[in-house]
Amino acid sequence: MEWLRSSLVALYPLRKAEEHEVIPVSVNYFPHRQCNYSCEFCFHTTKNLTILPLDEAKRGLRMLADAGMVKLNISGGEPFLKPTSIGEVFKFCKEELRLESCSIVNNGSKVTEKWLDTYGQYLDVMALSCDSFDIETNIRLGRKDGAGKADHVRRVFEVAQWCRERGIKLKINSVITAYNVDEDMNEQIAELAPMRWKVFQVLLLDGENTGDATHSLRDARDLVITDEQFQGFLGRHKAQKCLVPEDNEAMKASYLNLDEEMRRVTSFLNSSTGSKIPTRSILEVGVKEAMKDAGFNEKAFIDRGGIFDWSRSSTAGDSKDMEW
Ligand code: SF4
Repeated sequence: MEWLRSSLVALYPLRKAEEHEVIPVSVNYFPHRQCNYSCEFCFHTTKNLTILPLDEAKRGLRMLADAGMVKLNISGGEPFLKPTSIGEVFKFCKEELRLESCSIVNNGSKVTEKWLDTYGQYLDVMALSCDSFDIETNIRLGRKDGAGKADHVRRVFEVAQWCRERGIKLKINSVITAYNVDEDMNEQIAELAPMRWKVFQVLLLDGENTGDATHSLRDARDLVITDEQFQGFLGRHKAQKCLVPEDNEAMKASYLNLDEEMRRVTSFLNSSTGSKIPTRSILEVGVKEAMKDAGFNEKAFIDRGGIFDWSRSSTAGDSKDMEW
């Protein structure tokens, strides 16, 4: 009946929205910006080395749970550069906050079996970023560490297997750009068999990936694809039942993102280029006040499938599965 609870929770934000109060049911937390990869399209780049002390992070998470959070996703940067810290966060979220779901988006390169044996019990979903199964394309995209090692694809399959062995649900995230839009990934996705394959249209964000003129560390302008190209990629992979597409429109304002200082980050809000605008920290003004800062759209969150079967104890493959 876990899905039923989730569904009811999903409706709650809409009801409260009429009262102009947003409930942070599902939160994406970006605890730091450091990364060992250098993807050209990255929109959360290493612009600072800030990371909250663990106790401060826990304080903020407790405030969010008190305000209605039931799912936490950690992303980055590469979150596994701080493995003990994120492990302790997940443990805290499960044991003390009793969250329904903890998930993590990462590039797979720093996951270890030791970490999974220690903290995997607190993790519901492992989301691995993989945009291509071609070594050269990964190198071109920057999906590689500083040494230029080209073992990203091998790592993805390896970590996927480790998760399967431990009952952790697998998700694959792929960003579609001019470099991979013509690739056929059917065979590899079928082999990986994730619970969901999230396919994003590359997104430009000023200050992150639109070049020097916007003080960005990355420049993805040459990687942009048209909506027609994106649809072509989706059509080629329509046999993959796990595919969950997300174009630029669907991303706008449909995520509740917290940055490294636990400031509410207006998510992917503006039109063609957009930008992220940090607002007040929940640690300083509280969740209710911080949530008033414009940006999040609960309907967009629901419409893009923000509520899904997100606990490892739930039955995978249910028709009500949806994706964040
Ligand atoms: S793996 Fe790539 S997209 Fe993800 S944080 Fe690192 S550089 Fe950015």
